[in-house]
Amino acid sequence: MQNITHWINGKPVEVDGSRFGDVTNPATGKITGRVALASKATTDEAVAAAAAAFPGWRDTSLARRVQVLFAFRELLNARKSELAAIITAEHGKVLEDALGEIARGQEVVEFACGIPHLLKGGYTESASTKVDVHSLRQPLGVAAIISPFNFPAMVPMWFFPVAIAAGNTVVIKPSEKDPTAANWLASLWKEAGLPDGVFNVLHGDKEAVDALLDSPEVSAVSFVGSTPIARYVYERGTATGKRVQALGGAKNHMLVLPDADLNLAADAAVNAGFGAAGERCMAISAVVAVDAIADELVAKIAERTRTLRIGDGTRGCDMGPLITAAHRDKVAGYIDAGIEQGATVVLDGRHPSPDAEGDGFFLNPTLFDNVTPDMTIYQDEIFGPVLSVVRVPGFDEGLDLINSNPYGNGTAIFTNDGGAARRFENEVTVGMVGINVPIPVPMAYYSFGGWKNSLFGDTHAYGADGVHFFTRGKVVTTRWQDPSHGGLNLGFPTNS
Ligand code: NAD
Repeated sequence: MQNITHWINGKPVEVDGSRFGDVTNPATGKITGRVALASKATTDEAVAAAAAAFPGWRDTSLARRVQVLFAFRELLNARKSELAAIITAEHGKVLEDALGEIARGQEVVEFACGIPHLLKGGYTESASTKVDVHSLRQPLGVAAIISPFNFPAMVPMWFFPVAIAAGNTVVIKPSEKDPTAANWLASLWKEAGLPDGVFNVLHGDKEAVDALLDSPEVSAVSFVGSTPIARYVYERGTATGKRVQALGGAKNHMLVLPDADLNLAADAAVNAGFGAAGERCMAISAVVAVDAIADELVAKIAERTRTLRIGDGTRGCDMGPLITAAHRDKVAGYIDAGIEQGATVVLDGRHPSPDAEGDGFFLNPTLFDNVTPDMTIYQDEIFGPVLSVVRVPGFDEGLDLINSNPYGNGTAIFTNDGGAARRFENEVTVGMVGINVPIPVPMAYYSFGGWKNSLFGDTHAYGADGVHFFTRGKVVTTRWQDPSHGGLNLGFPTNS
């Protein structure tokens, strides 16, 4: 069994106290590792290492910082299959999907390689007589990154490439359910030449998170996870004066209009609904079908879903297991509730026969039709392979439904009517919008983030927002007198 230690100051650090968590392979149900759960003392040690490394890294030239980032990018690209295997073994998602999340994370590394351009300030010559003004963006110090189980590589990579490139040092607190990916990334940074202490990994649970939030040496917190914890992290972190961005849960809708290409829409619904067993913050969980095409669309989605192969992610299947037995049972409970509350069950996923050894945490995909907004399966973020079809009379009712939802992470419209798509884009109260694209995750040079209960704070992840989040502005006003200057003047400075 693997012992998963913290990574502090450039090396694995054996564990202090007595608290550990089990790490399980969800496809087999077997415990494969034991992860340390940090105490406040270990958290302080990790933060102190990051704080000590900050002045040296901040003052390292941009040329050198970029060389390290490029080296990291090259190593990651060459060895991503090792990381994908780790992700599949601890998360359960199929290997192809694990490689997909690494590719999206790698794009942020590539974006961060352009940091010299992104940090350039402004300059105004002769703002007043002999007075020039310029602006700088400087790093904050120690940034804490707290991430969820569902993207053990990509979500940390939304933040740390930009944070590090901008001159900050980081402490990553990954999910205790799939912690090994973060250690692998730490050793890759070391190989790339990153100085010790710039990238630290702290494993743990609430105790570690609270200690990070309360630490006076942590300047910024990037959090991704469920909405109640995101709200808590935002409130507790900002109460101690930190800059916080806390991305929360989601309930993503896909509106299908009668003029849509229904084959394209059905493919999209299946991919976005059941990919990664629905454990994606951008998964589609509600298909909003206009009545005129609802029967045909449901039939097409069902037909495609029946062909999916469920099993161990290393065996070329389409969909893997859920993260834990408890989560599998919770999702199965939602299926029970959907049936009890009167939804039409088109495909019932509660009795899977996966292609896997052992006792993994599998469900088959479940498809519900005639779901109504008062049902629990519509209201809650299920975070599993359960797709609900809600029928509406037309575009306006579909848009109203989406806009009245408390979450606002992602959404999509499927149509061939440019006017409808344009109105949807303009009026929908959601942060990331797809037009005939089911999972509209922005490219690395835009920024990722939802609205409403899907994000607390006002800065999205990566892109220009990421650079802004991990730096602080400063404006310098300079006067260099020419040699002819002399005499006193006690008047208030005025512009002339
Ligand atoms: P989670 O909220 O349970 O855990 C997220 C992190 O918070 C983990 O590191 C965990 O150790 C820590 N944590 C858990 N309970 C805590 C507590 N009481 N106090 C302090 N810290 C705590 O989320 P999860 O189950 O790991 O991930 C799934 C959730 O993440 C879903 O809701 C999903 O929508 C969301 N998510 C959102 C996005 C996004 O971009 N908005 C992306 C990925 C995942």
